Amino acid sequence: MATVEQTTRSDEIRVENPATGGFVAGVPRIVPDAVPGLVARARAAQPAWEALGFDGRATILRRAQKWVVDNSDRIARTIVSETGKTYDDALMAEIGYVASAFGFWAKHAPRFLADEKVRTSSPFLVGRRLVVRYRPLGVIGVIGPWNYPLTNSFGDCIPALAAGNSAVLKPSQSTPLTSLLMADALRECGLPEDVYLVATGDGSAGEALIDEVDMIMFTGSTPTGKRVLERAARTLTPVSLELGGKDPMIVLADADIERAANTAVYASMQNGGQTCVSIERVYVEAPIYDDFVDRVARKVSALRQGVPDGPGSVDVGAMTYAPQLDVVGRHVEEARQAGARVLTGGRATQHGGRFYAPTVIADADHSMSCMTEETFGPTVAIMRVSDADDAVRLANDSPYGLSASVFSRDVARAEQVARRIEAGAVCVNDAQLNYFALELPMGGWKESGMGSRHGAPGIRKYCRQQSLLITRFAPRREIHMFPYRARTTKLIGTAMKLLYGRGKRN
Ligand code: NDP
Repeated sequence: MATVEQTTRSDEIRVENPATGGFVAGVPRIVPDAVPGLVARARAAQPAWEALGFDGRATILRRAQKWVVDNSDRIARTIVSETGKTYDDALMAEIGYVASAFGFWAKHAPRFLADEKVRTSSPFLVGRRLVVRYRPLGVIGVIGPWNYPLTNSFGDCIPALAAGNSAVLKPSQSTPLTSLLMADALRECGLPEDVYLVATGDGSAGEALIDEVDMIMFTGSTPTGKRVLERAARTLTPVSLELGGKDPMIVLADADIERAANTAVYASMQNGGQTCVSIERVYVEAPIYDDFVDRVARKVSALRQGVPDGPGSVDVGAMTYAPQLDVVGRHVEEARQAGARVLTGGRATQHGGRFYAPTVIADADHSMSCMTEETFGPTVAIMRVSDADDAVRLANDSPYGLSASVFSRDVARAEQVARRIEAGAVCVNDAQLNYFALELPMGGWKESGMGSRHGAPGIRKYCRQQSLLITRFAPRREIHMFPYRARTTKLIGTAMKLLYGRGKRN
């Protein structure tokens, strides 16, 4: 397999460790003109990969699963070095996810992509065999963000490969090293040459990729997602978009406050809050508001932040992407100016690199950017609400609809509230966990995306769907064929009235 080193390069991408500011590595910057050549190689390699069949591909994917587990420390240290996140976040939310995903897609791809026999309800089609089948599209372009270089960049290549496609991945230029390490991994595991290639370029390489491939799987911000969709329209290239979020949590008065507070802290601060499904805003019913805010503030102020080392060294890592630090600072400052209470944190910190202190904003409301725009940092904003209806209205008052949480001891009531939230995934008495249920489709509503990952739709999107109608026994001439005759047409008309004209179900 060839990786980026063998392709045309113009200059270098310098990867820096956000936690220390230190130089980690340089990788070639792929120019847009080099992308068609990469895709052509992936295209040439794809038929043989498809011809291996599900079992042949599953053998390699299972080897890769073992490789990931055997090399977890090496992968974790690579992720930590380019993102500044904690070792623990890398291990649990990235390596844990990808190890599980290799096995999941190896096992379930044959079932999700098996031929489906379909029964027709039309008496005019009696005797025909109807089948829906799936064929890989060819070359899938995957474009990924910087916050999860393994889970959200490389991870989407796994179902694409399991379906029989080759994949060209363009990782974020901030975090290309993990994707390159996975090229080494797959090579060692016996993946045929050129079936997985990495284009380590910037957004212009991403645009060139859209022009060349058969489908684009994009994860990133909503504004860039819209640009991707516009570009793909030029070639009618299918696109799946996993975009930004502003996930709400609703805490009803009868909730287990301690569990809700622990979950709010974890789901807002895990990965330094740089997770698409981070809890960014919490709506708490008035009777328990003060208690909840106290608990969250105490727990957040106890979090340890600093340069990540091995497991358990710190709780909250660095800000991976420099411009994000300004966004977080602005949201906190605007909330403070508008009268919210910043109970802990509320400032950038050094520790040698780029950090923002874990921050709790209480008494927030929807006049503040921290409640309406994606913050994407280690902050949580809390707002008092009068009742569940108020909470649902506010939760839905957002252009985003990625995921959400509802907490209550009355699980049936919480589920009813969950069903009223405009989001692609809602957890009851939990947060974020649905992401690890690979059987559950996950996709954003509203400006959080189009399409979904996981479940059957998460692999069928990488395929062309073909419908087959097979006629074995039939007369030489069907009655609807030429020449048209008044008598036959009237007969068909009468049959249609009998079948469909009586308002009955058929
Ligand atoms: P961006 O949208 O800035 O970038 C995402 C990727 O798109 C990068 O690889 C980037 O390249 C590339 N890109 C930039 N411009 C173009 C273009 N015109 N055409 C094609 N590709 C382009 O997102 P971030 O990297 O800042 O990631 C953070 C965002 O991702 C957040 O909004 C977060 O919510 C979202 N996200 C969503 C997830 C989900 O599942 N819904 C999961 C994870 C993150 P480069 O940066 O190298 O120039």
